[in-house]
Amino acid sequence: MATEVAADDQAQEKTRGPVGEWLYNLKMRAPWFVAAALFRVMYRFKVVGEENFPSTGPFILCLNEYSLPALLVSGWIAIVMLERVMETTPESIQSYMMEELWSFSFFSDIPTQGASELKPLMPQGAGRLALGLLDGVKVLREGGMININPEGDVTWDGRPLRPGKALAWLALHTGVPIVPALASIGAYDIWPRWRPMPHLGGLMQLNIGKPFTLVDEPMAAVEPEDIAAANELIFKKFNEVRFLPGSQEDWAGPLTRNGTPVKDPLVLKPAHAPVVPWPDVDKAGESVRKRGLAQLLWRCPMCHTEDALVHKHHQIGRDKVRCRACGTRWSLWRVVHHDYRMRVEEGHPDMVGLELPLTTWYDEARRDFELNAIDVPGINLRPGEEVYLTADGVNFKAYRPSPLFDGLTSGEAPRTMTPGSRTYAAHESLGEGRLLVTSERLVWQGPEGEMSFEWPHFTAINIVMMGTLYIRYGPAPYRFDLPGQISLRWMTYTGTLAKRAAEVDGHELQMMRF
Ligand SMILES: [Zn+2]
Repeated sequence: MATEVAADDQAQEKTRGPVGEWLYNLKMRAPWFVAAALFRVMYRFKVVGEENFPSTGPFILCLNEYSLPALLVSGWIAIVMLERVMETTPESIQSYMMEELWSFSFFSDIPTQGASELKPLMPQGAGRLALGLLDGVKVLREGGMININPEGDVTWDGRPLRPGKALAWLALHTGVPIVPALASIGAYDIWPRWRPMPHLGGLMQLNIGKPFTLVDEPMAAVEPEDIAAANELIFKKFNEVRFLPGSQEDWAGPLTRNGTPVKDPLVLKPAHAPVVPWPDVDKAGESVRKRGLAQLLWRCPMCHTEDALVHKHHQIGRDKVRCRACGTRWSLWRVVHHDYRMRVEEGHPDMVGLELPLTTWYDEARRDFELNAIDVPGINLRPGEEVYLTADGVNFKAYRPSPLFDGLTSGEAPRTMTPGSRTYAAHESLGEGRLLVTSERLVWQGPEGEMSFEWPHFTAINIVMMGTLYIRYGPAPYRFDLPGQISLRWMTYTGTLAKRAAEVDGHELQMMRF
């Protein structure tokens, strides 16, 4: 694990003249100021609760990333509001950022100045050592400030993600206040992860909540139960801030049929029994981003057929969604600062007029998920092993330093990295091939051989950027680019199998919600 901590390797002191310094500051700040100005016009952006922002440390500032607009808001806070704090505590601000951001020179060029520095967070972080959290405790004890996104991911359906362990661990060990500075829930409907383009209007504000502490005195030893209890409180406090001025229930909205509230338990019925294969399969060459809602509802809520929904965007009027397998047709529309809504327009007579929040449709789509074996040639299966899902043209990447760069051989993938210092986000392709999900393993078949990742050794699974499956096998990170594939579908298959294996021996497995 020690190789993953090497947080200071990349600190590069840079020398610039006065003009260079001015240009550098302009480059770092300009995007945030342009974004803030645009957001004021488009999204009536404003900061609410600015008086709650402490003028001096120690404290932990918590940001979130509902969407790209929310990410820009986080950047804006970091620049504008933190500068005031830096005037009083210039030497002790530490920011944790997703490791993948080091792929962009904008972030990797940020120099480390004194104790004011950036630390990488890996997707679905690898525990407190890899987070450099002990350094964080030191910063807070000296009166400094930590800047972190405890959710560590972007929500797919708008519902808040649970915080990871880092925030609770830091706050319990130090007793310092937590300051929520969260983009309001409107950031989600402006640009959900499943929509190809943002809406150019909406409502988004930055809500700064009242600082709160988890303990009166720092705790010497923090147990998993302490973290779990603290996370419940943090989740509750954050939700009080992000759904302002309402609650999560207000945000989702009612379940209705032809305008009347649905009182009975929801029983969904397809228009007819699913037809497979569908008569009009025509997705060739279409980017998965453009498939819109089919990325979230990757399973039909009515008939549970996978990869069956088609979403048609309309500039004027409501979008149209239909299932190729069971023939149900919906209209889909946005309600600013609320969940999207979807209504059955054609289908089973009992279903027509049923109007539900998108999150409820998503819950129904995920209900009773099961793995079904498919026939696939070209793989030597073990006795009893079944294949569930495959994709071609998958780019397999390992993170440097990895033994795989010394020569790729068939067999089980290495569970460790080569000892030595790490460069952040330094992943490199090992070729294109076919990826298979089986009952026993994830298999990548490349031009030079076959690599197996056995489910019992997975420690993390996530979707990063758009359409990349990120895994940690033992502590070693790998990634698979899945062109044309619906990433939540892959997350569900791999996550379900890895979770089952983790439950057998009780080892820790960190995953995004799916
Ligand atoms: Zn269907």
